[in-house]
Amino acid sequence: MRLFEAIIDANHRAVAGDKEAGLHPADFADELPVIALTCVDPRLNAIFPNALALPAEEFIWLRNAGNIITGPLSSTMRSLALACAVKGGKEIAIIGHTDCQICKTTAMQLLDKLQALGVDRHQLPENLNEFFGMFGSERQNVIKACDIVRHSPLIGPKIPVHGFLVDIETGKLEWIVNGYEAWQTLPDTSEAIKGAGPMTKELGSFAAFNLGEMKFPEAKIGELATKTEDWLSQKVEKLEMAIPGTPETKAAVAQEVVEYAKKHWPQPPVVPPKIPLPPPIRPKIIPTRGRR
Ligand SMILES: [Zn+2]
Repeated sequence: MRLFEAIIDANHRAVAGDKEAGLHPADFADELPVIALTCVDPRLNAIFPNALALPAEEFIWLRNAGNIITGPLSSTMRSLALACAVKGGKEIAIIGHTDCQICKTTAMQLLDKLQALGVDRHQLPENLNEFFGMFGSERQNVIKACDIVRHSPLIGPKIPVHGFLVDIETGKLEWIVNGYEAWQTLPDTSEAIKGAGPMTKELGSFAAFNLGEMKFPEAKIGELATKTEDWLSQKVEKLEMAIPGTPETKAAVAQEVVEYAKKHWPQPPVVPPKIPLPPPIRPKIIPTRGRR
């Protein structure tokens, strides 16, 4: 059993009332510490890291409002990269939560709130949704964040990137993106480039970077697959602009990459049905035995 399989098992057992549920961190020494990105919501202070049954020293905690990743090279991405490279984080978990107030705030409401604080509209970018990375679905926000982190050039392929949604009332975790599976099945953009043909290969990381930077479409999980094709078609033009060369070369390369991506794009994750939720949990951290 891998680390997050054991964590989910302990979490679900604890939520179901099993007072013995927990895990031995020493059994997972090679997979710890974990890096978690969560929202800044203060209600999470009481939930982590105990909902993961991890001791505090094995839990590297990054927070921002809405657990939003705005791009593959964003400030939060750089912190994740440093947390892996310098602090030795072995796995990344993007953990959204239910009842997120960032999710519930519209661009108009945000503008009103900022203006009430004396922020001048003229000092703000035109598109507040895009600038702040606002979102309409906590689940979709986690999936999108995982996608960006997985494809970021700052995170190596050895780091699993998981996505979870935690119930703010109970601490129950829902595993939305399984990083153990995802990194084998998600097409990374460099693979798309490799598989797309000799002309595209020559463009190397330049085209890969630009493709990776494009934002995945906002859609409900069920709509994801059908919207992917539309989204890719719309992005051909943007991709062409990003690639150097003659107009013919640009178009040919863009089309090759898009065709490859269409073929290899992942299916949306299966989301388990929601089950009735028991009272708040505190999974037990079992003392380490002969830590390596
Ligand atoms: Zn939140």
